[in-house]
Amino acid sequence: MNVVATTASVDETRDLAHALASLARPGDVVVLAGDLGAGKTAFAQGFGSGLGVADRITSPTFTLVHVYEGRLPVHHLDVYRLEHLSEALDLGLPEMLDEGGVVLIEWGDAIAPMLPRRHLDIEVRRAKDPDSEDERCLIFKPHGAEWIRKVQAMRTTAETLLNAAAVDSRGPRFEVTVDPFARDHHREITVEEEEA
Ligand code: ADP
Ligand code: MG
Repeated sequence: MNVVATTASVDETRDLAHALASLARPGDVVVLAGDLGAGKTAFAQGFGSGLGVADRITSPTFTLVHVYEGRLPVHHLDVYRLEHLSEALDLGLPEMLDEGGVVLIEWGDAIAPMLPRRHLDIEVRRAKDPDSEDERCLIFKPHGAEWIRKVQAMRTTAETLLNAAAVDSRGPRFEVTVDPFARDHHREITVEEEEA
């Protein structure tokens, strides 16, 4: 079950991320996918502020990882420059999670095999309409029951927030898409499947 949200400005994207961050728990992994300039870092900024990070999160492109102090430690990664999947091992993802942190990974879809099964995928897309330069579409794809619940809760909070902020409401901001063909590629292999 995917939730699709539309934002009309960078602030709205940050508000949405802020709403999600209030539900963050130690060990959470959020993967941000989307083209350069889509708004992945903007989302990370809102998420950080929602976790009480005082500094503005910046793009960690050259160092790969930045750690911020908030209600929980926030590890912000950008794996755009990783050339081999094996390099992802050196990032120490399991350690970050064991220490009770929250991990946000820009371009994390590139290291999908290294990710824990339970995580949230967020794809950020620009609107096709050139007249709406600041419009973005965010597709939330939860993996695991806990993330499904959190995405639903975020939707409720953000709906109130975004609708209150938007004077010229341009229709529904949230849409729930059920894709019957979407397969959770991180699903656990059940005993029956192993035996078959
Ligand atoms: P990425 O990390 O995906 O490369 P950034 O977050 O660094 O992208 O940049 C997104 C850019 O797009 C910023 O300059 C931001 O101000 C702008 N922008 C305009 N509208 C939006 C929106 N609705 N959501 C997010 N960013 C937006
Ligand atoms: Mg970025």
